[in-house]
This record gives sequence, structure tokens and C-alpha cells, in this order.
Amino acid sequence: MNKILKIILIIFIVILFAVLGVFIYSEGHSEVIGENDLGSVNKVTYGHSSNPSVEIGIVSGMHSRELNHKFVLPLVSRVFAFFNPNVKIVNYVVNVTDHPEDFNIGRANGESLVHDYVVNDVAKEDLDLVIIGHDHEPTYGDDYYIATPTMDNASVKLASKVTNDIGFNYYKRNVSQPTQSTSIMNVDNPIVETGTRVFVYEIPEVDGKINAFKRSYDLVAASFNRLNA
Ligand SMILES: [Zn+2]
Repeated sequence: MNKILKIILIIFIVILFAVLGVFIYSEGHSEVIGENDLGSVNKVTYGHSSNPSVEIGIVSGMHSRELNHKFVLPLVSRVFAFFNPNVKIVNYVVNVTDHPEDFNIGRANGESLVHDYVVNDVAKEDLDLVIIGHDHEPTYGDDYYIATPTMDNASVKLASKVTNDIGFNYYKRNVSQPTQSTSIMNVDNPIVETGTRVFVYEIPEVDGKINAFKRSYDLVAASFNRLNA
């Protein structure tokens, strides 16, 4: 065989193994933590540190019709953990199988799955923050934003800093108005009650997936930096 061809072949094989190695190394540990008639929750844990300095939970797929966050947040979890050895990221992937395309029933089913399976798991884990992913319609809030519906001090303090760092909008809730929101009562409040900060994170549904990935990565990075400070 021609010498140059041989060298090219060896370089090609080395690159192939390197890519394969990165792919295998960055893969998360996956387990189903709950399943019922409405769907299931898969818990995917990323990170190799035995003593991570920051632990972040990311919920995706709770509202099954929201395609941007459902696609980018698992990828962000994987890529961020690969480049940041001091972090542990737990991605709770909600898979609604009962009426996933029905706006109201699908949403309620996803919230029920998170209430029944994610809240208990968060209570067992020692997470510093849980980010709950959403997409929003153009009229429902502006651009990329965070809300802290429970308005607990720890979440508010962190959200103020992080949104300021990366230019997200921050919507506070007026707590003097009693809430009727099922997601606040069934999801946000119970997670905060475990002693964990909660961000409700909203991506514009009209934005492209590449920008949604980039902005979501910025959010996780800024949260990590503030929690690590
Ligand atoms: Zn949503």
C-alpha cells in the first residue's frame, strides 16, 4: 500500500476512535423511575465526578407538544456535563403517552407524571436547582425568560443574578394574588418544598433549535457559575 494512503488510514482510524470515545464517555446513565397509564419518566444522569460541586436537575417533555425545549435540553445536559467535570446534571425526560397532542389533557398528564415521580426523586437527590423547560407562544411572555412561581427567597435570588448575567427576562409572580395554576400547585411548590430552587424556563416556540440550544447552554452555564461561586 502507498505510504501516504497508509498514514491517512491510520489518522482516520485514530479520529474515529476518538469520536467514539467522546460519544461513549459523554453518554448518561439512564433509568426509568416511574411509569403509569399516562406515560413514563426516564432519569438520565450526566457527569463522572464522585463529588460534584454543583448538581442541576433539568425537566424536559412535561408539556409534550413543546418541541424546542424537548429537543435541546437533553443535548445541553449532555454537552455541558462533558465540558464541565465538576457538575452533575440529572435530566428528567418526561414521555407522555396518553393524549400527548391534546393541549390541555397532555399538559395535565405531564404535570401529573412530574408530581408523582420527579418530586420524590428530587427529594432524594441533593440538587441545587431544578430547571423546568417550556416553549411559549409569542403572546405568552417575551423572548427567553425565567419565572419563579413559588417566589421563595433562594430561587428569586439566584434567578435575579442569572437573568442579569445572560440578558434573559425575569417574570416575578405577585404572591398577593392566590394562584389557580395547577403546575404551580402540583409541580413548582412541591419541588421547592424539598429545599430545591426552581426555575420555570421559557423558550420562544418560534425560535430555531440552534439558537434555542445556545441560549439554553448559556442558562445552564450561568446557573452553574453562580452556584459554584
Ligand atoms: Zn409548557
